[in-house]
Amino acid sequence: MEDKDLIQLALGIIPPWFVKELNLDTSKKRMDIYLDFIKGSKFLCPVCNELCPIHDTKERVWRHLDFFHYETYLHAKVPRIKCNGHGVKLIDLPWTRQNTGFTLFFEALIVAMCKEMPVASVADIVHIHEDSVWRILSHYVDKAKEERDISYIKTIGVDEIAVKKGHNYVTLFYDMEEARVIHIENGKGKDVFQKFRTEIAGKVDHEQIQYISMDMYPAFKSGAREYFPKATIVFDKFHVIKMMNDSVDRVRRTESKENHVLKNTRFMWLKNPDRLSEKENVIMESIKNLDTKTAKAYQFRLALQRLWTIKETSIAREYLDKWHYWGTHSNIPEIISVSKAIKKHAQGILEAMKNGINNGVAEGINNKIKTAFKRSYGLKTEKYRNTMIYLMAGKLTLPTRC
Ligand SMILES: [Zn+2]
Repeated sequence: MEDKDLIQLALGIIPPWFVKELNLDTSKKRMDIYLDFIKGSKFLCPVCNELCPIHDTKERVWRHLDFFHYETYLHAKVPRIKCNGHGVKLIDLPWTRQNTGFTLFFEALIVAMCKEMPVASVADIVHIHEDSVWRILSHYVDKAKEERDISYIKTIGVDEIAVKKGHNYVTLFYDMEEARVIHIENGKGKDVFQKFRTEIAGKVDHEQIQYISMDMYPAFKSGAREYFPKATIVFDKFHVIKMMNDSVDRVRRTESKENHVLKNTRFMWLKNPDRLSEKENVIMESIKNLDTKTAKAYQFRLALQRLWTIKETSIAREYLDKWHYWGTHSNIPEIISVSKAIKKHAQGILEAMKNGINNGVAEGINNKIKTAFKRSYGLKTEKYRNTMIYLMAGKLTLPTRC
């Protein structure tokens, strides 16, 4: 077998295309593969799939997967055909898509790498500009988003996240069943629900949404009521505990100004007891029973968490009532106010529990988003940031290498 035939086989090039010439430049560490087609060939019109004669050709080059440590490029004269119905058209090529300087194999590799490491590192390793990596990613993410099926969605989750220092927020809409981000909207006002409804129109009837799971943020509640009036608003464990933790932290912050024992203990109060390290455990044992407001607030948090171990809704309701009573009699302003807020939303909390609305979803997505933000650190454009969120948390069907 000749080298050319071997490369042709490896590239999966089939007639009328063939490898005409190979050039390995050892000084430049570069391999160039020249493709050609059998003279007199006709090609399919990309619009109507009719075989048409060639009108003219244009020289093109594409970056391909490296051949060992040699950067590899494919070259070909790409035909434009003349179709009776559609005029002069550039043909579709089996190894690339239109308007890119890369082969499909190369682009699939880029997408796979971007799932594992920052875009800047990918660009660095393969020696292409970061913008090129972003363009490839955006293309496949947009395409996969367009092609995904969301028609079955009945339960959605909504969450706001800070994107920059200051008060810049985006709102994420999740598919709670598949645990994936399906839409990103700037801001966190109630109008984000209107925009989301417009976005999914044609794919999802807004009346089919049965549950919307969220934190207790007023703008979200009124947005959901206005634009998804048939849906029941529910509150998942992740968001309720997050709110409770914020209160515990506020209590600790105030108290630690006077009580130095509480210095550097912030994260211990926010973790679950079984997640503490050995060292933290020792410290916790010595401070959790002290007569401090923080320790008391912590016990309230642990007590609240036990709610989710109760299977029976009526018992859970009773438990929540008792918890609320203790909370409002705690003499700790932060705990009184969080107890009242949680009591006010009891129905939605119990509803989420009853319907098995999974709190792990919001938490899992939150962690993926954090990774996405680290990956796109310093990103100027919103488009790229959203692309990274969809890549990390959108569970899209993206191209693979074979
Ligand atoms: Zn045609």
